[in-house]
Amino acid sequence: MSQAEAGERATNFIRNIIDEDLASGLHKSIQTRFPPEPNGYLHIGHAKSICLNFGLAEDYQGQCNLRFDDTNPEKEDLEYVGSIQRDVAWLGYEWSGEIRYSSNYFESFYQYALELVGKGLAYVCFLNAEQQREYRGTLTEPGKASPYRDTSVDENRNLLEKMRAGEFKEGECVLRAKIDMASPFMCMRDPILYRIRFQAHHQTGDAWCIYPMYDFAHCISDAIEGVTHSLCTLEFQDNRRLYDWILDNITLPSATRPRQYEFSRLNLEYTVMSKRKLHQLVNDRMVTGWDDPRMPTISGLRRRGYTPTSIRSFADRIGVSKVDSFTEMSILEAAVRDDLNVHAPRSMAVLNPVKLVIENYPENQVEPIQAPIHPQNEDMGKREIWFGREVYIDREDFREEANKHFKRLVLGKEVRLRNAYVIKAERFENDEQGELKTIYCSYDPDTLGKNPADGRKVKGVIHWVEASKAVPAEFYLYDRLFNVPNPGKAEDFEAVLNPESLVIKQGFVEPSLADAVPELAYQFEREGYFCRDNKQPGLVFNRTVGLRDTWSEQTKY
Ligand code: ATP
Ligand code: MG
Repeated sequence: MSQAEAGERATNFIRNIIDEDLASGLHKSIQTRFPPEPNGYLHIGHAKSICLNFGLAEDYQGQCNLRFDDTNPEKEDLEYVGSIQRDVAWLGYEWSGEIRYSSNYFESFYQYALELVGKGLAYVCFLNAEQQREYRGTLTEPGKASPYRDTSVDENRNLLEKMRAGEFKEGECVLRAKIDMASPFMCMRDPILYRIRFQAHHQTGDAWCIYPMYDFAHCISDAIEGVTHSLCTLEFQDNRRLYDWILDNITLPSATRPRQYEFSRLNLEYTVMSKRKLHQLVNDRMVTGWDDPRMPTISGLRRRGYTPTSIRSFADRIGVSKVDSFTEMSILEAAVRDDLNVHAPRSMAVLNPVKLVIENYPENQVEPIQAPIHPQNEDMGKREIWFGREVYIDREDFREEANKHFKRLVLGKEVRLRNAYVIKAERFENDEQGELKTIYCSYDPDTLGKNPADGRKVKGVIHWVEASKAVPAEFYLYDRLFNVPNPGKAEDFEAVLNPESLVIKQGFVEPSLADAVPELAYQFEREGYFCRDNKQPGLVFNRTVGLRDTWSEQTKY
C-alpha cells in the first residue's frame, strides 16, 4: 500500500522508507512495536511514539506489538505494567496478539550470548566499574584492551555459565562484546551485554541473576518478533551501530532483519518529560500523583478531560522528523479545544457566584426551559434548564459602570441570560465589606429565546444558573505547572514550579450535571471545557482548557 492509499496523514521520512521497502519487496508488510520500560507512567512524549508505531501499522495494514522492555527489574513495577496497557488501549490502539515482554526471551538472549562467546565475540570481564571507565578512553582518546579480552572461548563459556549459576557476586564481573576499543563511537568500545543482579523480577521471579543490557536485548527482541522497522528516539543514533553489530553476528531467529530508525523526541514547553523528574514531582508531592491533571502523563491528561482523538490529532499536527525542538503547549491545547468544540455537550456553571434577584418574576415559581445541548448540532438534542426569581451569575459579569466594550450586565442596562430572558439591572447591594452581595433586576417576559428581542439591541449574553435548582460544585482551574518554558534545564526545577498551577473555586452547576460522567468534557458556556474528576468524591470539575488560547494574553476590559 502506498502513502497516498495509506491515509490523509502528512508524509514523513519514515513513511518514505516504508514505501520504498514495500515497493522493492524487501517486506511484504510492516511490523512495528512500542517498547516501554515499565518504570513509570506514560506521558505525552510516549503518546507520540505510540501514535507513530500503532498509526503506521494501522495505515499500512501491518501489525504493532506492545512489548515491555523489562530488563531492569530494580526500577520496574507491575503498577506500571498495568497503567501502560490501560493508556495504550485508551488511546484507541490494539496491539497485535499477546502482550510481549523482553523477559519472555531471557533464555534466547542467553543462548545468543553463548553464540557470541563461541565465536570469540564476547568475554567475561572482571574489571570493576571504575577501571572499565578508565579503560574506555574518551571521545578524543582511544580506549585500551581489558586484560580479560583474550580469555579463551572455552574459559569464557565456563565463566558465563558460572555467572548465570550465581557463582559470582553482584558487580564482580560482566559479559562484554568484543568489538573495537578504538571506535569513535563509545558504545562500540566493548559494551556490556550482561550484568549480575540478585534481584527478583516481576515476570520471571528468581529464575535469573544475570540481566541483559538494553542494547543487547532490544535488537534481539525485535528480531524474534519479526519487527521490520524499529523506531526509537534520536539519542539512540550511535547505538544503531551496536544494534546492527549484534544482529550481524548472531544466527537470526527469523527471515526478517529489523532496521532501526531514529526520530526526534517530543519536548513540550512549560513541563518536563524525563521519567526521573516526573518521579521526583510525584515523590516530593509537588503534584498529587502520576495522574494529577497538571502532569503531562496520559493518565493526567485523561483525568483532565483530554480525549484520545485530541491526543492522536496532536501527534498528527506535530509530525515526525529528525529535528530536536520544543513544542508549544498551545498546539496540544488547540487539538483538544478543536475536538471538544465539536463534541462536548454545552452546559452552564457559575464559578464566581453572586445572587441576582428578578423582582418582577413571581415568587416560588420556577419554569423549565429547553436549551440545545450543542447550538451547532441539533442532533445532540435538548436539555432542560430552569429559570426562576433568583439566579446566580458570575460576579465578573456585573459592573456599576462600564464603557461600551463591556458587553455584560451594567447598572441600568440590559443583557440576555443565555437561553432565557432579557434582564435589566435596577440596583444592587453590597455586604459590610463592600463586596457585591445581590443584584436586583427586572426581566421582560416577552423575550424568551428571542434575540434580539422587540427590536431592542441587547448585545451581551451572560451565563447563569437558577438558584433553587443549582447544585454546588468545586472547580479546579489548572495552569502551566512551571513558570519557565524549559524547566528541565533549571538548576532546581522545584524552584520554577508555578505556585498558581491550581486554583480552586466554589460555585454552582446546572442540575443536569449532578451525575456528570467522570472524564467526559462539557463546555461550560463562556468558561471553558471541564470534566468531572475521576477520583475525588462529590462534584469536582477539572478545567480541561479555556475557550481561547490563553498563552497569548487575553483581552481584558
Ligand atoms: P527511560 O528509558 O529513561 O526510562 P524513556 O522516556 O525512554 O525513559 P521508555 O519507556 O524507554 O522511556 O520509552 C518507550 C518508547 O517511547 C521508546 O521507544 C522511546 O523512544 C519513546 N519515547 C520516550 N519519550 C519520548 C518522547 N519524549 N518523545 C517521543 N518518544 C518518546
Ligand atoms: Mg528508554
